[in-house]
Amino acid sequence: MKFSTLQELAACCGEDQVTIGELMLSEQAKESGKSEQQTFDAMANYYRIMKEAVRKGLEEGVTSRSGLTGGDARRVHQYMNEGVPSLGTEACTALAYALAVSEINASMGRIVATPTAGSCGIIPGVFVSAQERYGWDDERLVMGLFAAGAIGYVIANNSFISGAEGGCQAEVGSAIGMAAGALTELRGGTPEQAVHAVGLALKNSLGLICDPVGGLVEIPCIVRNGFGAVTALAATDMALAGVRSVIPSDEVIGVMLEVGSAMPSKHRETAKGGLAQTPTGRRIMSELYGRKTKDSGENR
Ligand code: SF4
Repeated sequence: MKFSTLQELAACCGEDQVTIGELMLSEQAKESGKSEQQTFDAMANYYRIMKEAVRKGLEEGVTSRSGLTGGDARRVHQYMNEGVPSLGTEACTALAYALAVSEINASMGRIVATPTAGSCGIIPGVFVSAQERYGWDDERLVMGLFAAGAIGYVIANNSFISGAEGGCQAEVGSAIGMAAGALTELRGGTPEQAVHAVGLALKNSLGLICDPVGGLVEIPCIVRNGFGAVTALAATDMALAGVRSVIPSDEVIGVMLEVGSAMPSKHRETAKGGLAQTPTGRRIMSELYGRKTKDSGENR
């Protein structure tokens, strides 16, 4: 890749007079040895999977394998259709769609890890709702995925994208930054504005711990995806309005690395701290694993 930081990414776009999405498409094609068309087609397939996960999560409704979660996307969608949600319809739609995809993940359905399975709802929530709102064609959204990929590439190479390494800021936080930067570009923002959107978004999730109840990617992961989609929209609007990330976005990524490195292991996907170790979290865990032990005993 000809860039390793967000500043370089924006500079390369300026030099080549291309969007972040266009630059990433050509760089990715070069790196993989595939044609741009093949590279585009592969990404288009990912977008189809995302849209299908949104549809399935909302229309069919799902329950997770553990039985702990499911149905919240439909609840939010129905609530939205019955009145005027506090967020407004647009943001509430993104929220419902993000929940839908995360619920599909918890039910072991098909999703695209963006950047991980735990944070798989945020980009589809933002993208699919924006497509409906603005009437964009799929091709445009696929180019947006390349933009999101470029941002994720920078974050992954300068910080973390997994909860086990850097806490939830690395998963949900990265996904929010990717969605915010990409949506800013999709809405006509410059590469610089997109980069500011990333920094604005990431700042808001610094320090977020990874504390999944029972070690399952359900509680609090699913609702964090919903919140993440809404935050991405807010960061996009701020960036398009001209708000800048005063601390440059690359420096914010550096802080994510610093904070994640200092995070105790109990807050990095081990389920040994945070929400996982609340009285309710512990009760759920013991019921879950007690039930599993009983089930396996009965099966013997
Ligand atoms: S809490 Fe942990 S497992 Fe859940 S989404 Fe965040 S990083 Fe992923």
